[in-house]
Amino acid sequence: MKDYNYFNTLLVQNVGTKVRAIAPTITSSAAFGYEDAQEAESIFKGEVANPLYARVGNPTTTKLETIVAKMEGGLAAVATSSGMGALAMVMTAYLKAEDEVLCIGGFFGGTYTLVNETMKRFGVQSSFCGIEEYEQIEERLKSGINMVLIESVGNPSLELPDLPKIIELCNQYETLLVVDNTVTPLTLRPLEMGADIVIHSTTKAMSGHSAALGGIAVFRAIKENDKLYHEKYAHLHPIVNKMQKKAMIAIAKKRAMRDMGMSANAHGSFLTMLGLETLALRLQRVNESIPILVKILNEKLPSNITVSHPSLETNRYHQRFKSNFNEACGPIITLECNNKERAFELLNNLKLVTQTANIGDNRTLALHMASTIYRDFDKATQKYLGVSDGLIRISVGLEDPKVIAEDFLQAIL
Ligand code: PLP
Repeated sequence: MKDYNYFNTLLVQNVGTKVRAIAPTITSSAAFGYEDAQEAESIFKGEVANPLYARVGNPTTTKLETIVAKMEGGLAAVATSSGMGALAMVMTAYLKAEDEVLCIGGFFGGTYTLVNETMKRFGVQSSFCGIEEYEQIEERLKSGINMVLIESVGNPSLELPDLPKIIELCNQYETLLVVDNTVTPLTLRPLEMGADIVIHSTTKAMSGHSAALGGIAVFRAIKENDKLYHEKYAHLHPIVNKMQKKAMIAIAKKRAMRDMGMSANAHGSFLTMLGLETLALRLQRVNESIPILVKILNEKLPSNITVSHPSLETNRYHQRFKSNFNEACGPIITLECNNKERAFELLNNLKLVTQTANIGDNRTLALHMASTIYRDFDKATQKYLGVSDGLIRISVGLEDPKVIAEDFLQAIL
């Protein structure tokens, strides 16, 4: 990870412009006029970089894409209408019927249903492995699966995978690896570590204000002897051969964005950039607050409620938290209340914290998992995803950590 200062400089300087309007300009036009028929042809051919039509790109969104690509160390990015839009774009662009996705670890509910229900209806198969089940993971990779999907930190399971090891395996078996890095922007840079595609819900920490729904996928450049030249990706070869270095972006745009229109809108992209300016500052604050908050809760909660977070020495991921994650794994902590009634009572007694289905907000948020995002799943699936009847997910915000702790403690007593 690069330090917060690096990103504080990079982000404010890239969002701002030095001359004339210094804030990003919102270009809210859906269509763009061409100089003449020749220019129209050149734009559609991809030879001239002027805007074509807002479904496939908008100047405000292009600026956002350039900043996030730099931030993630990728070649380029494609912004989408939501985080689910980014996942749907990547899956539909890169996969076809009878391909298989391997999902490693626990997942956000929408991602789980996208893979396990929606993509399945269109013939894309899926299999699931725990983050430490390396033998099973290797077996699936050997069998020739087409894509691996993993969250950098399980939401809400708080599992911390050994990402370098998973990346090494995917590269060994020439399999595309997609990392959902929503929970750990800046902290982890999976493309630099060797992953192929990084996606984010920008609705979360990147914005911080909950004022804009959005997503983004960031892509690496195609290399010599790229894994995409493998026979299992033969359906992508015409684009790879034609577009070469930039093929991964063309695959996303031409095989998903153009035909399905999960496009970002200019106003949303503008709001997301306003959030990006302060992302590093806000992350630093949250990452410093969490161990303070978790320590207080761990000491003061009654024995029938436990706080969970990798910063605790007793947590099974504590060592990995320190080594691979540089002691920062996003805004989530969880409370196990052991039953739904106790969880509801605690939530309803909160005075400061907001009950809502988001994470990464500037405000501290909390939500009972089993009755909301995970309500459509059976018990076995909930268990696999790390959700129990008494689980509350908390997303820690910018408030004084002692004041956040007081709110939870007063809600119990
Ligand atoms: N990925 C993760 C890890 C998430 O937490 C979420 C949303 O909660 C998403 C993807 C989906 O993002 P969005 O709500 O912007 O569609």
